[in-house]
Amino acid sequence: MDALDRILAQESFGLDDLETLLSLEDPDERARLHAAAYRVKLREVGPVVHLRGLIEITNVCARDCLYCGIRQGNDALDRYEVDEDEVVAAARWAWDQGFGSAVLQGGERCDARFVDYIERILQRMQGFAEGGLGVTLSLGEQSEDTLRRWRRAGAQRYLLRIETTNRDLFAAIHADDQDFDERLACLRLLRACGYQVGTGVMIGLPGQTPADLARDVLFMRDQDVDMVGMGPFIPHEDTPMADSLGDFDRVRGEQLERGLMMIACVRLVLRDVNIASTTALQALAPDGRERGLRAGANILMPNLTDTRFRAGYQLYDGKPGLAEDSEASTRALQRSVVAIGETIGYHQLGTSPRYLRRRG
Ligand code: SAM
Repeated sequence: MDALDRILAQESFGLDDLETLLSLEDPDERARLHAAAYRVKLREVGPVVHLRGLIEITNVCARDCLYCGIRQGNDALDRYEVDEDEVVAAARWAWDQGFGSAVLQGGERCDARFVDYIERILQRMQGFAEGGLGVTLSLGEQSEDTLRRWRRAGAQRYLLRIETTNRDLFAAIHADDQDFDERLACLRLLRACGYQVGTGVMIGLPGQTPADLARDVLFMRDQDVDMVGMGPFIPHEDTPMADSLGDFDRVRGEQLERGLMMIACVRLVLRDVNIASTTALQALAPDGRERGLRAGANILMPNLTDTRFRAGYQLYDGKPGLAEDSEASTRALQRSVVAIGETIGYHQLGTSPRYLRRRG
């Protein structure tokens, strides 16, 4: 048994262990990490992938995150908001396909009209699905009143990435009016409002170290989150961080590897949570999402956003699926799941086992 075997055989992991795992460079050792995480996934959540239909409802955003393609300050962008009927129709399509859930994601907006718009969409989704379609929101930081209204209207899950737990790095990649403690407070509020809570980070940010990422994993453990959605940072040409990683093609492969190692570490440490294999992995390699599943993820998110809006929701350069409609996006993911010998949990909410166990 070598040092890596000894770490992988542990039941609990400390900062040093995780830093060691996240610093692995040898491909065989990385493969052993993925395999260990995959075994934990099979034991805790089984060889079943749940689909979350992703609807990117608006690229209008009041925030100015330095990394994000839909930041308010990006003028090279036509702004859109998907019509209410169209959002409901896309969610209905997901329901008809037997998806366990849908995700409404968009820029951060807190105006009353937007809050009402989301509330009405949620109510209409309950009308046809009657709670049978899990609804996740990913709409940034919101007030307690708004979060409670949306919860009452039918949203059960909320994803709010902390982005990085390194406060200096957080400050460096956000605008001055964005505060780590406020984001953290909002994350905690989600649980108080009765949501299943998801968070995550960007991986491979400039200056981010394996120790930072190890702390991110322990943060997710300590917050006792139900869901994790995280992915590699990929620069966007119209943002202040466009050149922050230098020649991106030189680091592309390594960004993917870091993303996979993080998935594996989160699976080893948090065990029974839902972990998404995100589109950012696919942007780095055509089989990126399959590799995410093999490293321990169990959730895929077919993009259901109408193709006419896709160009407007380029969070980073080279985001795939520009011309791929819902049908094609879903079929591609179904093939990925079959390719790795797993099945899709149709007509199942796919609630995080962690959440179910906590509720008892
Ligand atoms: N506005 C909401 C929020 O901030 O939580 C949700 C939408 S936001 C566009 C969704 C996520 O996209 C962010 O949490 C961030 O992690 C990710 N993202 C944005 N720009 C990215 C980039 N350049 N590379 C990788 N991920 C990025």
